[in-house]
Parts: sequence; C-alpha cells; structure tokens
Amino acid sequence: MEQILIRANTPSDEQQTGTLHVRRFLKIEIVKNILIKLLIFWGLAFVTFFIPVYDVFLTPLFFVIGLYQALDAEKARFKIHHGQVACPHCKENIKFKRGILYEDHEVVCQKCTTVVKIALKDPYPERDGRKILT
Ligand SMILES: [Zn+2]
Repeated sequence: MEQILIRANTPSDEQQTGTLHVRRFLKIEIVKNILIKLLIFWGLAFVTFFIPVYDVFLTPLFFVIGLYQALDAEKARFKIHHGQVACPHCKENIKFKRGILYEDHEVVCQKCTTVVKIALKDPYPERDGRKILT
C-alpha cells in the first residue's frame, strides 16, 4: 500500500490537493485485467454470433466494447483503498470508495453535485523509483 497525492479540479474553482491510499497494479495484473475483459466481451461476441438476426448487431457491438474495456484496463494503474480530497467548490470532504483509479477519473461531490476531476499530483510517479513507498 502506498499513499499518493492527487489534485482535484473543477473548471471554475481553486485546485485542491488530497491523498489516496492505493495499491499499484503489477504489470502482470494489468495484463490479466486486459485479458479478462477481452475474454468476457469477446466471449459474448462469440455466443451472440449464433443468435439469428441479432448477431448482425450484437457480435460487432460486443467486439468493440471488449476493445474499449481492454483499453480502459490498460490505463488502470492503481487500486483505490481509501482516501479523501476537499471539494474545490464547497470544500466538503469527498471520500473515495474502493475501486480502480482511472486516467480521467471523476467523482461527484455529494453536497454540491459538482463533477470533480481527479489527477495525480505527480503524473509520472513510476519514473522516479525513490517516490515509490510500497
Ligand atoms: Zn462540493
């Protein structure tokens, strides 16, 4: 488990800094996540291939969804354990639930319903080995 700094942005308010407790995905886990996504959606594409009429729509649909899901899985670097940041708009604490931190992560403030963009404070922490605490 490591602690990373995040920035919370909205288009009109001052940026806020918060912390996330995360676990970094290992390379092998990222590959596994990609393969699982491909297996699920391409499996569905394969099954729907045998449904008359609907196969025309469903097979390419699941094929494309599978590609997008796999690309998403490729971008996921951290598993969120917990964390919080002040809402840039109303300063209410936004708490993070367990989940995956995506590249263009967004959360909605429960108090003012502002959509807050979350970004890593240091966008390339893996480039500097000293900053990895694990
Ligand atoms: Zn708010």
